[in-house]
Amino acid sequence: MYHRFEENKYPTTNIKTNDFKKQIELIKDAKLEFIGVDQLLKILVDKEPYANKKILLTIDDAFESFYKNAWPILKDKKIPFILFVSTREVNAKHPNYMTWDQIREIHQSKIGTIGGHSFSHEYLVDFTKEDIIKDIQKSHDDYIKELGSVPKIFSYPFGEYSNEIKKIVVDFGYKLAFGQHSGVIHQNEDMFELPRFPINEAYGKIDRFNFLLNTSPLPHKFNKPEDKLLTNNNPPNIEIEFLMNVKNINCFSNEGDQWGPSEVTFLDDNWIRIILKKKFESRRGKFNCTMQLNDGSWGWFGRQFVINN
Ligand SMILES: [Zn+2]
Repeated sequence: MYHRFEENKYPTTNIKTNDFKKQIELIKDAKLEFIGVDQLLKILVDKEPYANKKILLTIDDAFESFYKNAWPILKDKKIPFILFVSTREVNAKHPNYMTWDQIREIHQSKIGTIGGHSFSHEYLVDFTKEDIIKDIQKSHDDYIKELGSVPKIFSYPFGEYSNEIKKIVVDFGYKLAFGQHSGVIHQNEDMFELPRFPINEAYGKIDRFNFLLNTSPLPHKFNKPEDKLLTNNNPPNIEIEFLMNVKNINCFSNEGDQWGPSEVTFLDDNWIRIILKKKFESRRGKFNCTMQLNDGSWGWFGRQFVINN
């Protein structure tokens, strides 16, 4: 997941263009295949079998800096991607955002695909159900007017979702939805809370990026709590039943507003409980679990909660 390109004032959501070019080379060196939305839908919705791990680049927010600095590279190399567009700022011709003409160019290129990202890009979990529906409907009116169709894939603004928002997104006809929690997608994943790795200046350095290219899914049967919106259950009781033995797993969280290891207890070889000793203090609580697998790659499973106290 990318946001800004060469907007060096914003290191946590930015990647320098030269680093982006290097990352493309590293992906090619690792012999990983870039796929677009059509292939993603075949694999995840139609459950077509596939042999090797693949990569889909996702870009959120449609900043002008994407169009200026990354689009020429992707167009030149014909690398597919999905661009998630919130429509309010685009409608308002905000100077930091792409224009509808630029978005249409990508839509018609068949290289990039436009994804849904709401109208307002506000904190949707703070909205009433009716207002969430209105917000997404407004974005759909814009997509229809400007592009002639509505997107099939959604990205939750800030990666925040509740069970209610997931259901609304399903009811709008979306086939898949991405959060902002780290991890590698598997065909058993919940199709409305897909993980992806955020790439920014710190997380985009070569060593870290190469590490990410060597990650694998940790497929699971369920993870609790199912609702990622925490109300009176902070800290939550986290339980994950994996589809494999995870006895060497380690989990980390930002409980108490500080990243560090969290205590894990085993209910079975494939079933863990993460014991958080402190509440999540910031708006978003996250945990990540990793484990080295037999092929040398690192299995990764993560989730993000949103806290509404
Ligand atoms: Zn966004």
